[in-house]
Amino acid sequence: MNIGIVGLGLIGGSLALDLRHQHTIFGVSRRPETCEQAIARQIVDHASPDLALMAKADVVFLCTPLGAIESTVTQLLPHLSSSTILTDVGSVKGSVVEAIAPHWQNFVGGHPMAGTAESGLNAALTGLFVNRPYVLTPIDSTPAKAVETVAELARSLQAQVYHCSPEAHDRAVAWISHLPVMVSASLIAACLSESRAEVLALAQSIASSGFRDTSRVGGGNPELGRMMAQFNQDELVRSLHAYRHQLDQVITQIEQSDWDSVQQLLTQTQTARPQFLSTSEKE
Ligand code: NAP
Repeated sequence: MNIGIVGLGLIGGSLALDLRHQHTIFGVSRRPETCEQAIARQIVDHASPDLALMAKADVVFLCTPLGAIESTVTQLLPHLSSSTILTDVGSVKGSVVEAIAPHWQNFVGGHPMAGTAESGLNAALTGLFVNRPYVLTPIDSTPAKAVETVAELARSLQAQVYHCSPEAHDRAVAWISHLPVMVSASLIAACLSESRAEVLALAQSIASSGFRDTSRVGGGNPELGRMMAQFNQDELVRSLHAYRHQLDQVITQIEQSDWDSVQQLLTQTQTARPQFLSTSEKE
């Protein structure tokens, strides 16, 4: 197939690297130098900042930041033939599906659940999606053939395909992706509020695997984190309130030296954690 990728960054570049083994890749990115680099490094077969390049594509993956998806689609649609299948990789699905589906029948909302703390074409990796969930969010009007074509491409990346509604997706990712970013960022910010400079310096020197794990997603791409909050505001706020309620309970238990309750919580979470990781990273 001819595969179009709009937005040659971490996700778009990684898709191109893997799909290029079996397909011809047409890439569009905002900056001409990114397009030149993508051709020079043989990440894509053809590239241009001009969306007219997408006229040849059978399937187009929208891989721009969330805030640019809607305006990109408006400019893109006049270049496409009616059979072209459009899909996106945005981390939020409700607002994206609502914005695109009324204008393009062959649109399938998608979200590959993979990433790193880096961004841009230089961060693109081969095999990024292997054994990772790839969520598709078709709605009643989405043609089954379009859904199956995108699912087949996702499976060719060795990703595990899931189907759900855009609403269920946004509520679920608030818990397991967007809330963790805000919690992890808040952890780093709280540590930085240490008032004694020598204690802060000591903490930074001796921080080890525990801090590395819990601070990882708070040290990622700030633009992506902002977009998650902006486009999944209601679900993120709901999960943050639940988290604050949980934190308040732990504070009370510790203040009251209620060690049995603290241990009970940690026993429950020790048992529950593997279920959250059962489909991807088994630890
Ligand atoms: P990224 O590394 O910043 O890549 C996006 C690229 O799009 C930029 O490098 C930029 O390239 C290009 N771009 C920006 N505006 C554009 C426009 N208007 N038209 C065409 N190209 C444009 O970001 P990413 O992490 O790959 O995220 C891309 C999408 O994937 C987002 O919607 C995000 O929600 C989703 N996602 C991200 C992750 C993750 O963990 N990072 C995981 C799953 C899904 P140039 O300026 O160099 O041309």
